Formats: sequence, structure tokens, C-alpha cells
Amino acid sequence: MTQAFQKLAAIRGMNDILPEAGARWEQFEAIVRDWLQSYGYRNMRAPVLEHTRLFTRGIGEVTDIVEKEMYSFTDSLNGESLTMRPEFTAGMVRAAIEHNLLYDRPQRVYAMGPVFRHERPQRGRYRQFHQIDVEALGFAGPDVDAEMIVMLARLWRQLGLTDIRLELNSLGQPEERARHREALIAHLEQHRDILDEDGQRRMYTNPLRVLDTKNPAMQAMADSAPRLSDFLGEASRAHLQGVCDRLDDAGIAYRMNPRLVRGLDYYNLTVFEWVTDRLGAQGTVCGGGRYDGLIELLGGKPAPAVGFAIGVERLLDLWSQGEAPEARPECDVYIVHQDEAGQRQAARLGEQLRDAGLRVVVHAGSSGFKSQFKRADASGAQVAVILGADELAAQVASVKWLRSTQQEGSGQQQVPFAELANVLLPGRPKAKSAP
Ligand code: ATP
Ligand code: MG
Repeated sequence: MTQAFQKLAAIRGMNDILPEAGARWEQFEAIVRDWLQSYGYRNMRAPVLEHTRLFTRGIGEVTDIVEKEMYSFTDSLNGESLTMRPEFTAGMVRAAIEHNLLYDRPQRVYAMGPVFRHERPQRGRYRQFHQIDVEALGFAGPDVDAEMIVMLARLWRQLGLTDIRLELNSLGQPEERARHREALIAHLEQHRDILDEDGQRRMYTNPLRVLDTKNPAMQAMADSAPRLSDFLGEASRAHLQGVCDRLDDAGIAYRMNPRLVRGLDYYNLTVFEWVTDRLGAQGTVCGGGRYDGLIELLGGKPAPAVGFAIGVERLLDLWSQGEAPEARPECDVYIVHQDEAGQRQAARLGEQLRDAGLRVVVHAGSSGFKSQFKRADASGAQVAVILGADELAAQVASVKWLRSTQQEGSGQQQVPFAELANVLLPGRPKAKSAP
């Protein structure tokens, strides 16, 4: 006797996206692709798995991600340590270097897909989540930083999202951060007694990150800490001003947040986040900034770059609270039929209607008309096409409008096969959403 297989659940923090939600995801992704292409970004895809050292080097040893969030394992074949990408940028840059992408010109590229972080699952925080990652590789000026922010504002507009605000900061250059860091460590040393465990541990390795604390007991200490903005040189200040001027040109409001440091080590100059109050504690829907040192750090010829990542789950959560359009029904036309001859004719007609651009489901299997109509209704189709014995004999199809009011009262209409597409097309639901 075979033993029943123990039912399995998905891994904690890793979500199934079921068909209802899947339609919404596709709708969102289609909008996003059009939006990215409207700024000249091209799709690029790097593997989900990379060598662990790409991330330890690229993201930084003393970051939340590398210290405790990575899914890493040893490849049993050769003993190499591999890691499921916890973010896109390191892999995108690795690929750009490996394939000499910046050889003759800078590149605007994007990717979307899952990333993996071993965090405590809660609303807006998952272990597999999705990002839209956008990178402008080889661009130095504040014009591209500002363009990215303006471009994000356009996406929020297109999605009808209004409650997202922009926070901005400049992290300056490494030398400026080094001088600030000395002053900061001196400040932390003075307040050593109130630092929590993370703070104690990081005060010498990543003192800037200590200020990013959520511990209320450390807020006053963080507020009175020396500010990086006081250590910025002329060029860094000019870069920031360049970004701000262009945001003003575009009418985009922002708040300077001197505490915004981002959780990855590779950033310099401009950093920004888009935040909302509508998602509870996990309110950051997008974060980005400049990373002029990363390409060189990962072995490439030095080149500046700037990028951002959108958290898709959080953004979709926000979108569904507002004006997100209804997801499209699974098909436009549902064909019901009787007997084998009816089914075969239905299959032929289905192909014909798809040629005309309609989305068609032909009922599969044989069942009574009543249950077929139930399925037709559940499919969301605008119209049912009926191929019963009478119809086959007369070489016509009966057309029954399932929801639109304009054809109401007209009951069923008999249409010769060759004219079916023409009769159905005008009733095809206009795509209520962009794609
Ligand atoms: P947080 O401070 O919320 O942990 P982060 O700074 O670690 O965010 P980034 O590395 O900047 O996040 O990633 C970009 C975006 O990805 C975030 O702004 C957020 O929208 C989303 N994101 C990050 N971590 C998660 C997660 N565990 N689950 C779902 N979305 C996430
Ligand atoms: Mg995080």
C-alpha cells in the first residue's frame, strides 16, 4: 500500500501569486515596461544565483543584507559558495563588466524579478519578493539622478498613486565620509553607554548605519550627531544642488533627510527613497542612488552609475488601495458546444476568432449546456458562442451577450461562421487599463 503524500506548504515568507493576482501583476508589469521604454531603458537579465563574494564585496560585509539576510549555500559539486540574489545591482554590474557593455557608450538598463532575503516575514516584508531594478551605467551628472526621480514621479502618476513622498540626501564622496566618520565615531564614543548591541557592534565598522536606528532610546543621540552635510565639499554640494534644481524644474517636492543612508555600502552622492504612510511599518516602496565606485570595486574600468529598485509587492499593495483598474477577465469569448461534432467546430471557430484578435476559451470536455454556461459566466467573457445540434445543422453559431446592456433584450442572435468575428469584435471590451 502506498502511503499518502504529506501535503506541503510553500516556504515561509515566499508567496504564491494566484491567477487573480497574477492578472494584476501582468497589468502592472506591462505599464512598467512601457514606462521604462519611454525613457530609453532596455531589458537585461542576469542569473538569480551568483558567487557569494560578488555580494559580500559589492554590498559590503557590514550590512544587514550580507550579515544576516542572504540565502547562501555550498554547491555540492565544487564546494563554491553561491547566493540567491538579495538585490539586482551587483549582478547587473557584474554582467556589464563581464560583457564589456560600457565599451563605447553608457547604458540604460532594467530588470525585474524575484530577490531573496532571509528576514522576518510580515506585511510588506517577505523572503522572496520582487523588484524592478533600473540602472543608468556610465552617467556622471546630476541630470540622470534627477531624470530617474522625475521618471518615478511619472510612474506614480500613471498608477494614480498620490500618497508617496520623496526623501533625498547626499552621501558625498568617500573622503568626505571618512572625515565625517571620524567625527561620528568620536560622538558615538561619548554616548557609548546608550548604544544597543547593534550600535556597539557597528560603531567602528559602520557608524553611519548606527544613526539609522529605530531604537527610541538612541534617537536623541542620533539627532545630535555630526551631520555629513557639514562635511561635503564644493563638488558634492554642487551635484546635490544640480539634482534639486532639476526637481524644482519638474515641480517635484522633496524633503532633505540627513539620516537617509540606505542599507548598502556602495552608494555615494545622491540617495533617495519614496515613502508612503499607507503601508504600515514597511512604507518604503522605492530606494536608489548613485554608486560611482561600484563598477571599479567589482573589477571594471572605473565608471559612474546611478540606479534604483522598486519593491513590487509593496507598490501593488498600495495600488490596490487606490484606483487600480479591474483586472481583465480571462477571455472575451467563451464557446459552448454539444457532441463531438460541435466540439470540433468550436475548436476551429476558436482559432478563427483568435486570428481576429479575440481572446477565446473553448469549453473543454463534454458537459450539459447549463454547466457550460456557468463556466462561461465565471470566465468573465462578454459573450458566449453556442454550437448546439441545431446550429451545426444550419451552419450558424448562436451568440449570447453575457453582460453588456447595449445588446440587452436582443436575446440570442444567429450568425454564419464566416461573419462571427465581425459580429463579436465591436462588443469586445475596451481594455480599461493601459496595456
Ligand atoms: P527596508 O528598509 O524596508 O528593509 P531596504 O533598504 O532593505 O528596505 P532596498 O534594498 O532598498 O530595501 O530594496 C528596494 C525596495 O525593495 C525597498 O524599498 C522595498 O520596497 C523593497 N523591499 C526590501 N526588502 C523587502 C522585503 N523583505 N520584502 C518585500 N519588499 C522588500
Ligand atoms: Mg532591508
